[in-house]
Amino acid sequence: MRIAIFSDIHGNFDALQTVSGLLDTVDFFCILGDIVGYGAEPEACVQWVMHRPDARVVMGNHDAACVGVLPLTWFNPIPKRALRWTCQHLSKESTTYLQTLPQTIPQLHGALWVHGSPRHPLEEYIDHPVVAQEVFVSSDFPVCFYAHTHQAEAYILHEGRLLHPRFQQGGEIILHPGKRYLINCGSVGQPRDGNSQASFGLFDTEKGVVKIQRTEYNMESAAEKIREAGLPEELALRLFLGQ
Ligand code: ZN
Repeated sequence: MRIAIFSDIHGNFDALQTVSGLLDTVDFFCILGDIVGYGAEPEACVQWVMHRPDARVVMGNHDAACVGVLPLTWFNPIPKRALRWTCQHLSKESTTYLQTLPQTIPQLHGALWVHGSPRHPLEEYIDHPVVAQEVFVSSDFPVCFYAHTHQAEAYILHEGRLLHPRFQQGGEIILHPGKRYLINCGSVGQPRDGNSQASFGLFDTEKGVVKIQRTEYNMESAAEKIREAGLPEELALRLFLGQ
C-alpha cells in the first residue's frame, strides 16, 4: 500500500492542489492535522480532506482552536488573529467535521500517527533531540509520524544512538526492524525549514520506505489570497521565506 502523508496544510489550497496533483498511484491518505489556520482558503482545504473516502485524519492545534478544544489564549498574536478570521470563514459542516477528528491514530500500518507528539498530541513540538529522546522513552512505538514543527526531518533511535536526518531537499528513509523512528514529512502549506517548497511524504508499507518530496507551487497566488482576505502580511511573506 502507498500512503500519502500530508500535514500542516494551513488553508493553503494552492499548495494542496499541487501536491495532490502529483500523486498517481496512492491508495490512502494520512493527514496529520492543521488543515486550517494562517492561509486564506480553510474551507476549501477542509472540504477537500472531508470528501476523501480514502483518508484518516488527526486533529492539529489550529483545528482544535476552531472547535473550542484548545483556547485561543494558547496562540501568539498573529496566529490568534488568523484563527479568529478562520473560525468566521468555516461552514457549519466543516466545523462539525473538525470536531470529530481524533487526536491520535494509535495503530495504522504499523505506525502511530499524531500532530504534535504522542504524549501531548496537540501542544508538544518535537523540535529538539532532547524532546525526541524523551518521546521515545515515554512510548513504545516502532514508527511514529508526527507534524506541528513544519520541518521535514526524522529522529532515528538505534542501540541507544539518536540520528537526526533532515529533508530540506527531500529524501528517503528505509525502515529497519529494531530501529525506532519519529518521522515528520514536513508541511504542505507553510514549510519552515528554510525551503519554501511544499513538503509531503509517501509511505510504501510493503517496501518499508518513506519518501519525502518537495515541490514548487503557486506561492504568489496563495500570498495574494492572504492579502486580499486582510490576514496579517507576515503570513504572506512567510510562504516565500520558508520560515
Ligand atoms: Zn501547523
